[in-house]
Amino acid sequence: MRSCVVCSGELTGNQRKYDSEECRKKQGRADWIANTYGITLEEWALIWAQQGECCAICKRKPRVKDDGTEETFHLDHEHRIKQAGPVRGILCPYCNTRLVGRLKSAERAQALADYLHQPPAVIALGRVVIAPGRPPKKRRVTRRRRA
Ligand SMILES: [Zn+2]
Ligand SMILES: [Zn+2]
Repeated sequence: MRSCVVCSGELTGNQRKYDSEECRKKQGRADWIANTYGITLEEWALIWAQQGECCAICKRKPRVKDDGTEETFHLDHEHRIKQAGPVRGILCPYCNTRLVGRLKSAERAQALADYLHQPPAVIALGRVVIAPGRPPKKRRVTRRRRA
């Protein structure tokens, strides 16, 4: 009996390697992860379990999309030599691109944490000044034209 290379299910008809579209996709993802990050799906799962199955920074879980599939989280890695560098962890798209992608270094992230914990304004003035913020915009009444 010929069997599916992913789940060992029996191959029928003109199926060559996979017994289902799902298995073909799973293999495609495994190949992509192996080629891009140098880890196996099993290793991906170990990292995912280690960080509590959520984004390692904001702790958010992947959203389930309208079509029932889960949002894809990114396997974050350092970019040392062009695209290559050590794998760090799994992040939501926001934390990966907007936070880690912008901060780039642990030093910058530490500086941000220091800034938030000990704002220079408070140290300089010796007190916390509450900024009133911008005055609210006047509401413009927009009338919809009737069709
Ligand atoms: Zn299969
Ligand atoms: Zn996140």
